[in-house]
Amino acid sequence: MARQRIICWFSCGAASAVATKLLLDVVAARKDDRFEVAVARCAIDNEHEDNERFAAECTLWFGQSIQTLRSPDYADCWDVWERHRYLVGVNGARCTVEMKKAVRWAFERDWKPYAQVFGFTSEEATRADRFRANNPEVNLLCPLILEGLSKQDCFKHLMGAGIELPAMYRLGYANNNCIGCVKGGTGYWNKIRVDFPETFDRMAKLERTIGATICKLGTKGRPRVYLDELDPKAGRRQKPQDMDCGLLCVGGSP
Ligand code: SF4
Repeated sequence: MARQRIICWFSCGAASAVATKLLLDVVAARKDDRFEVAVARCAIDNEHEDNERFAAECTLWFGQSIQTLRSPDYADCWDVWERHRYLVGVNGARCTVEMKKAVRWAFERDWKPYAQVFGFTSEEATRADRFRANNPEVNLLCPLILEGLSKQDCFKHLMGAGIELPAMYRLGYANNNCIGCVKGGTGYWNKIRVDFPETFDRMAKLERTIGATICKLGTKGRPRVYLDELDPKAGRRQKPQDMDCGLLCVGGSP
């Protein structure tokens, strides 16, 4: 009988790590060799280098290796932004499409899974429903929603397993996105200015080169602002934004 293949998409985020672990535990408990599970990660060089440490520790926790996938067409997100002269807009970020979605689609075509696991948390049931509606070809499994686990629960699970959270969370970011994510708003970019000044300066120069901006100011009229003219105090009272990239793309900068 053909084996039933399942892909767990691991993004180095806390939620996808715990979702993967839950699925692997269920499959192991069944002792049913009809199931074949791949843990796959779309890696991007713009991520924090601590993600390699986190992925290595999760590999031990999972008891299974992680397949690292990379774009065959682009070196990193800078390459995407520079070649397309585009950062982010109402339809989302081109880097998500090229560095994550296209890579995921290629793996799906090769692997032909019967189901796929994504780390939607209990707060994201609506987002999961939207994903199902927009991707009817994907048999989506959401172990975190089934177990009622929130993002905070995922943090606790990882800490309980003795795995230190990825550096971006420890620095105070809500998501383990790339360093200098184009989905970020003013508060996020002012934090990047402090934590990763070289990335801030490089993005500020790129905005001017291609004549595009990431951030908008205020709520009325939403004027755009270049990073090199962004008030360093702007957005400092914002809560950390939830702009998880994962393998999905959900709009641009708020
Ligand atoms: S995390 Fe941000 S910068 Fe990285 S691929 Fe996703 S949208 Fe692009």
